[in-house]
Amino acid sequence: MAAPDISPAGAPVCVCCTEPAVVYQWTTDRHLCTTHFIADIEARVHTTIAESRQIRAGDRIAVAFSGGKDSTALLVILSRLLPVWTDVSLVAITVDEGIAGYRQDTIRVAKTLTKKLGVEHRIVSFKDLIGDDLDTILAGRESQACTVCGILRKKALMDAAKEAGATKIATGHNLDDEAQSVLMNTLRGDLPRLVRDAGKESGGCFLPRIKPLSGIYEKEIASYLFVQDLFLVLPECPYTRYALRAEVRSMLSTLEFRYPGTMQHLIESKKKIERYCAGAPVMDALRHCRECGDPCSGEICQVCRLRHSLGK
Ligand code: SF4
Ligand code: ZN
Repeated sequence: MAAPDISPAGAPVCVCCTEPAVVYQWTTDRHLCTTHFIADIEARVHTTIAESRQIRAGDRIAVAFSGGKDSTALLVILSRLLPVWTDVSLVAITVDEGIAGYRQDTIRVAKTLTKKLGVEHRIVSFKDLIGDDLDTILAGRESQACTVCGILRKKALMDAAKEAGATKIATGHNLDDEAQSVLMNTLRGDLPRLVRDAGKESGGCFLPRIKPLSGIYEKEIASYLFVQDLFLVLPECPYTRYALRAEVRSMLSTLEFRYPGTMQHLIESKKKIERYCAGAPVMDALRHCRECGDPCSGEICQVCRLRHSLGK
């Protein structure tokens, strides 16, 4: 680490100005003040969006907005960047899974922030989608929580985004999430999922998904919110303990601390595999569910299969 400039009071100062530094950015070995740290994060998100043309003139972006830290940062950044694009609008969509003691707090936070930012906000629930909340659906099969939750959330979000006239869905996946997904899909031996890039156009079957925060570390997102007094400590989902992701997350954080760059290397590996697989038939051909017509890889989609297993 290069020695930082030191203020007369003995504290490091920002490399871009003479203000006291509030953050040490380990990836670039720089100390930054609040203003320049915020500007750095927002500029990097803008670069990610621009490089892969994630947002184009006329887009209506549905932001998957849980009220947690990643989606809060995403909504704040996109609403600030909005003037950069011509005729682009945002709609925030919150999915209420129906998890007692957890989701209500984040919904309250989500309502407050969207009001403050002046962003249209829609809330959809599993109860509306399938007739029950997640807690009821999971009774006796809690270990499947995240699988069931993921299937229904994707459907609820997709339906709500289409209903809102969105052209794309933006999710708050950060760099840590991306690295975790690579490792999880590898551990499960799920090559199709490993190489499927949700950020790409998807042939008009689903709305394309974009991940503007995929180049930002989770710690940076927490700091971005913290320096603006936007960081809130919210309850954790009670089903987290059943999630493979929780174990992978903890393991990767330890590895990243001991071997900096580990997460980036995983993501680069995924990109290389994607290139090797380009054009190869790793994905089953896309079909349409014979019951609901949604795109799926088999005869019937996961949501309809879930409905059957619940006797609906
Ligand atoms: Fe859903 Fe699992 Fe996330 Fe809880 S931890 S919100 S059950 S995906
Ligand atoms: Zn179906």
